[in-house]
Amino acid sequence: MNEYDSNRILDIVKQIGYHKTEFLSEANCFLLNTCHIRDKAREKVYHEIGRVKKNFRSKAKPLVIVTGCVAQAENEEMLKKEPFIDLVIGPQAYHKINDKINEYLNKKKRFEETEFDAYAKFDYLNKIQNSLGKTSSFLTIQEGCDKFCNFCVVPFTRGPEYSRPFDEIFYEAKTLAESGVKEIILLGQNVNAYNFEKYKLSDLILEIEKLPQIRRIRYTTSHPKDMTKDLIDVYGVSKKLMPLVHLPVQSGSNKILASMNRKHTIEDYLEIYENLKEINPLIEFSSDFIIGYPGENDEDFKYTLELVKKIKFINSFSFIFSPRPGTVAANLNLVKKEISSKRLLIIQKELFENQIKKNKELENKKIDVLIENKLKRGDQFFGRSDLMTPVILDGEEKDVGKIVKVKIIRSNQNTLFGEKLKTSNLKVA
Ligand code: SF4
Repeated sequence: MNEYDSNRILDIVKQIGYHKTEFLSEANCFLLNTCHIRDKAREKVYHEIGRVKKNFRSKAKPLVIVTGCVAQAENEEMLKKEPFIDLVIGPQAYHKINDKINEYLNKKKRFEETEFDAYAKFDYLNKIQNSLGKTSSFLTIQEGCDKFCNFCVVPFTRGPEYSRPFDEIFYEAKTLAESGVKEIILLGQNVNAYNFEKYKLSDLILEIEKLPQIRRIRYTTSHPKDMTKDLIDVYGVSKKLMPLVHLPVQSGSNKILASMNRKHTIEDYLEIYENLKEINPLIEFSSDFIIGYPGENDEDFKYTLELVKKIKFINSFSFIFSPRPGTVAANLNLVKKEISSKRLLIIQKELFENQIKKNKELENKKIDVLIENKLKRGDQFFGRSDLMTPVILDGEEKDVGKIVKVKIIRSNQNTLFGEKLKTSNLKVA
């Protein structure tokens, strides 16, 4: 979501003359769009600002803006703590950024703007064009969260659940399609909680896939509680919804799930898995795991490991629990670091082995790859399989934006390497 937001912020500030530079030292405005999910988010922001400061020690100070969820969580504290920061703008207020920059430049007075105003934000974003011309593009359909998992800051930093109007999303998808986008990734903190009037995520998928230019549709991040029958059934009828289901489970233990306030059980999760596999046996699951959540004992961890062995997740994320200030879990007793670290190694070994095995199974097979771009170095190209796995191949400039048949020659844990089959270039649109 931050990548989407950063691109939209760039679209907005272009209107008042800013453009992107690859060279820090030539910037006259430095904008840091921050994420609060990862460990030590605040510290990383101040560290990054310190790095910029050093670069500008003997030069005119650039305008320094912090946006995103750390900005929301810290707000005026940031201005007090770091005088080098000029503006602090929350994730639901970045549509006002040009006015805020002008206000600052006129008055030379530092301030923060962290109002929750998702409706006004998206209303504004509808009026600007997507200028980046990418093959694969995010499209935010929903923001915020009402689930209040005990470890998570999102309900506090992104606010309550808000679903964008159906027609506006379709209009944005159409604009993206007409500007060369072939794959749309529908985004939301709770994307499958999308609910606007009578429309749900399943309706959006079926509507967007009518756009002939769009060849692939994905969505992230979803919650097991919102994997409703209509959404599961879409996997049986959609021609463009990709067969990778990213569905965070967090733990394999019902006791820990209840303590996390996840609002689903392992039985619920397995039922979703079985139902989807019945519709399409080629569907694969990826997930997020929190290891060493407070109260996790050996038996709880054993349940998580059993789940990983059963589902054989690919492309997954696993982290040791780290407390976020202001959340319920921040007040709970931590599992000893050495125990969590040991469990993380065990779970990652299992996840990585699954992945290596799945990638290996594709060697000497032909798969469809959507080519996204040429690699910066060399003559090779980058694309993704239908399961989102990165593929590196020899190709041609004209292949960018096309789905091509690729024979996989070799693989490693994260990447497939292949060669394009000349006769079967599938033209897009
Ligand atoms: S459902 Fe996701 S975004 Fe919402 S509180 Fe839980 S982890 Fe955070």
